[in-house]
Amino acid sequence: MAWKKSSAGLLLAASLCAAPLERFEAVEPHMGTLVRVTLYAQDSGTARKGFTAAFERIRQLDETLSDYNPSSELMRLRSGPPAQVSEDLFRVLSAAQDLARETQGAFDVTLGAAIRLWREARRSNRLPSEAERRLALQHCGYHYLKLDARRRTVRILQPGLQLDLGGIAKGFAAGEALSALRALGLPRALVAVSGDLAIGDPPPGKAGWSVQVDQPLVLHNCAVSTSGDTEQFVEIGGRRYSHIIDPKTGLGLTSRTGVTVLARDGATADSLATALSVLTPSEGRRIARRHHARVWYTPPQ
Ligand code: ADP
Ligand code: MG
Repeated sequence: MAWKKSSAGLLLAASLCAAPLERFEAVEPHMGTLVRVTLYAQDSGTARKGFTAAFERIRQLDETLSDYNPSSELMRLRSGPPAQVSEDLFRVLSAAQDLARETQGAFDVTLGAAIRLWREARRSNRLPSEAERRLALQHCGYHYLKLDARRRTVRILQPGLQLDLGGIAKGFAAGEALSALRALGLPRALVAVSGDLAIGDPPPGKAGWSVQVDQPLVLHNCAVSTSGDTEQFVEIGGRRYSHIIDPKTGLGLTSRTGVTVLARDGATADSLATALSVLTPSEGRRIARRHHARVWYTPPQ
């Protein structure tokens, strides 16, 4: 009798522990692209709460970091006295400035004026004039952006300087959405903001998430970002230009090499992938090593 009782108790305990986790997936448009969240949860109600939290975090970050929305916190920054900013904006700008110093400006979020001019060139299929290019580059330079961590303030020293977080914001947002899921008790998740992946704990019973990077990899608790001109490029005068700017010329890159980076978090992977597109592979590999990141270069197709 006693044996039967305890066995029933054990069975009940076992079934409670082993309530199987199911895979759920949702896609929403954010940050000018599609965001896909994949997660494991015990039921659809829990999954729905996870999706709401993850997408809401991304929406909030887009409102803060967007360079398309003129009323974002980023776009409201002007040259002049130091301005206090939100923790999110400060974190992204700090990471960006660290990488700008490390790459001597190959990665530079103060390139807004040159990026805008380049976007116009892509729209009109016409290269900017020498004078336009020179003028835009006069309003760029990471040395003109000063951060004070103690006061959490940002100071722009050059009037007309424009910030553009297009090379780091999506990876950062993917990582933050993953953190929001973890905080809700849903750590087995993957967030993909276009080509920027933030990867959490492995799916149940698996060693990790299968991600195709050059070769198939099984990954967990890391981030993968790809930069390249396979999706966004323009052809002018028979040359193919990328949407990544060479800060020395103010024009899109023409090297056409794709770069994929595996790093510890989304902001690092995203910004490194953009930076390494500008740098030579040997410089790029040296920077990647300092971040304990892995790099794959894809030759032009
Ligand atoms: P994607 O936006 O396709 O994921 P990236 O992460 O490489 O590609 O980011 C490209 C964006 O980064 C550009 O659209 C622009 O907003 C910005 N950008 C372009 N050149 C640079 C650069 N040298 N340093 C920092 N940001 C850049
Ligand atoms: Mg990037």
